[in-house]
This record gives sequence, C-alpha cells and structure tokens, in this order.
Amino acid sequence: MRLSRYFMPILKENPKEAEIVSHRLMLRAGMIRQQSQGIYSWLPLGKRVLDKVNAIIRDEQNRAGAIELSMPTLQSAELWQESGRYDAYGKEMLRIKDRQDRPMLYGPTNEEMVTDIFRSSVKSYKDLPLNLYHIQLKFRDEIRPRFGTMRSREFMMKDAYSFDLTREGAEHSYNKMFAAYLRTFDRLGLRAIPMRADTGPIGGKLSHEFIILADTGESEVFCHKDFVDFDIPGAHTDFDSVEGLQAIFDKWTSLYAATSEMHDEAAFNAVPEGDRLSARGIEVGHIFYFGTKYSEPMGAKVQGPDGKEHFVHMGSYGIGPTRLVPAIIEASHDDNGIIWPASVAPFDIVVINMKAGDQACDDTCELIYAALTKAGKDVLYDDTDDRAGTKFATADLIGVPVQVIAGPRAVANGEVEVKDRKTGARETMTIEAAINRFVA
Ligand code: ATP
Ligand code: MG
Repeated sequence: MRLSRYFMPILKENPKEAEIVSHRLMLRAGMIRQQSQGIYSWLPLGKRVLDKVNAIIRDEQNRAGAIELSMPTLQSAELWQESGRYDAYGKEMLRIKDRQDRPMLYGPTNEEMVTDIFRSSVKSYKDLPLNLYHIQLKFRDEIRPRFGTMRSREFMMKDAYSFDLTREGAEHSYNKMFAAYLRTFDRLGLRAIPMRADTGPIGGKLSHEFIILADTGESEVFCHKDFVDFDIPGAHTDFDSVEGLQAIFDKWTSLYAATSEMHDEAAFNAVPEGDRLSARGIEVGHIFYFGTKYSEPMGAKVQGPDGKEHFVHMGSYGIGPTRLVPAIIEASHDDNGIIWPASVAPFDIVVINMKAGDQACDDTCELIYAALTKAGKDVLYDDTDDRAGTKFATADLIGVPVQVIAGPRAVANGEVEVKDRKTGARETMTIEAAINRFVA
C-alpha cells in the first residue's frame, strides 16, 4: 500500500476526549472515528487490525471444533418473550418497531436466536455435541460508554454457543472453549487470566472471565501471581480428549483468581503474601455454562440413547474483538505510539522513503516494496513528500513492527537502515540483505 494513495487521517494533536492511552492512540493513528456516542467507524488502518484479530479468533474457534455461521443483528422480540428475557433485559436493549408495528430489537447477545436455530433442526443426540459461533455486531445501550471502542454501545462480539446431551458433555464443551481462549489471547500477544466470575443476566452455573491486567482496566481483580508464567496449551492440543482438556482446566483454575464480584477475602489471604496480585484488569472474554436455562422455556430437546426426550445443556462463550484492539494497545505501547505484536500488526513492514523525488531513493524503495509485496508481506510504503521527521513519527505512532528506511546517504552506498519498532535497534545493511531478511 502506497501511503500517498491510502486513507490514514493522522492527528497531530492529542484529542481532548481521550482519557486512556489506547483511545488516544487509536484516534491519533486514524484507526477509528466516533459517529455518535459509543458508535464508531473503523477506518482502514483500524479495520486491518480488527480483521487480523478476528482471523486468529476464527482459527482457534475452528481448531476447537466450533462451526461458524452468521446471525442477523436485528431480532424479533417474540424469541425473547419465549425465554422471558424481553422484559428482564432492561434499558441496555435497544427496542425498535418495524413498519407493521412489530417489536424488534438490536441483539445484545444471541442465546435465544441460536436456540431457535438449534430446535428447528436438531432432534437426536447423535448430532451432538454442536458448537455454533459467529462474529457479529451487538448493541447494548451502555449507561456509560467510554474509552473509545473499549466500552462502546455498538461493538463486535465473537459469540459461540454449545449444545450437549448431558452436563458432563457440556463441561467438555466448556473446557474446549477455555483452552481455545488461552490460545487465542496468547496469539494476540496478551496474557489473559481466567477468573471465576458472576454469571450475571445470562445466568448460569459455571463461568470464567478472561482478564488482561492493565492499570486502566475497569475491573478490580485478585489472583495468584504464578498465572503470569503458566504454559499455554500447544497447537497440537487434542480437543477431543476429555481428560486432556480437564487437566488444562484444572491447572488453570488451581490457584486463586477472581473478579471483585466473586472475591473471597479469606481465600485470597490464604495465598502467601508475596504471591498475591491485586490489580486492575480488562475483561476480554467471558464463558458460561448455564445448563437448560434456555432450552427448557424454548423447548430445545433431543432424543437420547434411552429413546426419551432431553432438554439440551448449553453454554455461551464471548470475546470482544473491538475491545481487544485497544486492550492490546494498553498492553503494548511507548511514548511514541503503538507497538503491535506481529500477529495483528496492520502492516508487517513500513518502507520509509526519506527523500521522495530523489531518483536513487525512489528506485531503492520501489525495488524493496515490490520484492516484499511479492513475497506476500503486507507492506506500507511511505512515498509521500513529508519531511523525514514526520515520516519517522508516523511510523512509530502506527506501530508497524519493522521500518526499512532509505535515505540518500545510505542509498548511495547501496544500503538501507532496518529499525525494530519495539526495541528501537537500528541496523545498516545492503538492500539485498534487507530484502532477504523478510523473504524466507
Ligand atoms: P462488561 O462487564 O465489560 O460490561 P459483559 O460482562 O456485559 O461486559 P459479556 O456479555 O460477557 O460482557 O460479553 C462478552 C464480551 O464482549 C466481553 O468479554 C467483552 O470482551 C465484550 N463486550 C461486552 N460489552 C462490551 C462493550 N460495551 N464494548 C465493547 N466490548 C464489549
Ligand atoms: Mg462478562
């Protein structure tokens, strides 16, 4: 992508409305734009990051055996009347009427709809277990939307829903998502700690919130500090192994970890003082097992091996991609801007032409840009006629992991500079060496 032809509206000044660093940097880097309170457009740079986050989430959901579908944002109120939540949900639900005066709503979550899909076609235990997910916009009319897309009114959610014949089966399904979440957050460059959580309005029996430790987090959390170094389940984890997944769950729940709603002072005080971590955190995922809470009122049942009908046991599993993007920035930035983990960086490499219009600089940059693009890299080429200092500041602000810098002096020697955004380390090398470094 040539920056001269791209759309990346950088802000020079710090936006006054931004209270936390991620919100400030997302606005300054031209990633998002507020359209009305708590409702955002994702501008091209932000959209690239969001797509990469979603690709990792999708990959790990698929690995764990979940199946993707897509459900609408607008839902009929009737479904919610069946479950009893239409009246229970309160003002967070945006209620709408269509032209026939039929009550509709913008979905804050999808338990009812997915239960309806399930009951319309699954009739036998032989079709279980089943886990269906989508990545879709939600709307919750939050009382206090803030911190940009961290807590917005319209936001994206990956929500998965599992269906099992028995409680034991449902626990295995829960453990699959538990392990998938550990892998997902790790691939996003984050350390998320599963903490016992309140089951809230979704209701249920077993629940964990996945929390990233950050000073700007809205939740108060308490945990054993060893979680920070626990091993993440590997790529070859067997998701069909009941014992294997139970062992992962048992290990990751063996030490104290709870949000303030579930905090047990006495249990926490039993942790040796030097191992106690009391901090603030950002909730990036939340999983629930809620048994037959929806399947009973909505009549979602299957025939069991005993020939009798059984209400299915369900769970739901949410991750917030539009919250994860700022959460990653909270965890990874410096005074100059964002430092993207390679897995979600909007571009892999930025090529900086320090003197656009200078034939040697132009030729060198074109050569590198073409070679890296051909090798399948996402390359941003800063071919604008801005001053070199402005280009360096922009490259640091948008956090692309590697900068390849071509200035007249180095180019005259057949060389360029390669800078690592995270460490700041710079290395001068031949043009060929710079290309070979990124072309495997
Ligand atoms: P919170 O406690 O932060 O209000 P929640 O418990 O209501 O969130 P869930 O229903 O568990 O949220 O939703 C699953 C995930 O969706 C959350 O873990 C979070 O990542 C994301 N999410 C929820 N509400 C918002 C929001 N207003 N803005 C952005 N992401 C959100
Ligand atoms: Mg939650």
